[in-house]
Amino acid sequence: MVDVTVMGAGVFGLSVAWACAARGARVRVIDPNGVGAGSSGGLVGALAPHTPENWNEKKAFQFESLIMAEAFWAEVELVGGVSPGYARTGRLQPIPTARSLDSARARAVTAVPLWQSKASWRVIDVAEAGAWAPLSPTGYLIHDTLSARMRPRGAAAALAAAVKARGGEIVISGLREGKIVWATGWQGLMSLSKDMGRLIGNGVKGQSALLRLPRANLPQIFADTVHIVPHEDGTVAIGSTSEREFEDPSATDDQLDMVLARAVAAVPSLESSMVIERWAGVRPRAKSRAPILGVHPLRNDEFIANGGFKIGFGMAPKVGQVMADLVLEDRDEIPSDFKLTTLL
Ligand SMILES: Cc1cc2nc3c(=O)[nH]c(=O)nc-3n(C[C@H](O)[C@H](O)[C@H](O)COP(=O)(O)OP(=O)(O)OC[C@H]3O[C@@H](n4cnc5c(N)ncnc54)[C@H](O)[C@@H]3O)c2cc1C
Repeated sequence: MVDVTVMGAGVFGLSVAWACAARGARVRVIDPNGVGAGSSGGLVGALAPHTPENWNEKKAFQFESLIMAEAFWAEVELVGGVSPGYARTGRLQPIPTARSLDSARARAVTAVPLWQSKASWRVIDVAEAGAWAPLSPTGYLIHDTLSARMRPRGAAAALAAAVKARGGEIVISGLREGKIVWATGWQGLMSLSKDMGRLIGNGVKGQSALLRLPRANLPQIFADTVHIVPHEDGTVAIGSTSEREFEDPSATDDQLDMVLARAVAAVPSLESSMVIERWAGVRPRAKSRAPILGVHPLRNDEFIANGGFKIGFGMAPKVGQVMADLVLEDRDEIPSDFKLTTLL
């Protein structure tokens, strides 16, 4: 008999399982498709903050999660022996216009109290960033030290190994025992919508690519809505498309070529790099665009952890913590904006 059964072995399910196992609970994770088979099995792995202004519960939650991430992933690696490829390498963003330069400078000021001096957001001259700098029409870049990177597949494997090292089971089928946590990604949002008779959320497809290019410790770049993320294994990930309408969840097509072209326009030196993988997956998007965390609206002793959408990896450490508080200790620290009741 286990204390907690988690349905879904993506980053949300595994983070909840890990947080529960780390507190001594016996956990079982069930996923018929295996570890990281959904959107958590991708390539990009940008752990990047929202802009430091107009603060709200979601931004505060994400900030805490990003700050927790370094210690969280270090412990996961220590316990399970598998590297998630985490490093807080920062981020560069070109500043395209005089107006956006003004906002970037204003955000450098608001970042100080909002980020509590735990990370900085600065406007720098493009020359300061060296050869890896993206092109910037104004000659300036935003450099933040909060952004980190991590290999999504490495992170899922690292969490799975850590759960197992703490005595947890990860299986493709099995009994649902104890408290049940549904972390079943976009398919879970679709079936919840069906059960509730109203739209709770759905899936938004994304395509991404991996280049062979050793830039391991350089900052990630966010330019023209494209993430360019160097990883420690000598690759650079590029993503992503955002497709509400799609037929084949895992197919890649010319929309990805357009993302790659935008990446090359921002960083021309990428042009000669070999594309070694193209990948697509479907992000779980709640109607609110915020995560959905809390008790299941229809079933006793059941819970939901879903809606990571575009920042699921960045949110995962804090999601694990607040869900373990709720499931194991009946302590509810979940922001009100993340409650399913806000969608009803
Ligand atoms: C192209 C792309 C790029 C992205 N880039 C980033 C990024 O840079 N940074 C970031 O933070 N996030 C990024 N994301 C978002 C991130 O991948 C997601 O937010 C995150 O993976 C969601 O995790 P999850 O565990 O909720 O869902 P998933 O990883 O989809 O996991 C859900 C799991 O549930 C399983 N399942 C479904 N139904 C059942 C059932 N009935 N019983 C048991 N198991 C079931 C599925 O097999 C699946 O493994 C990106 C996503 C995409 C697609």
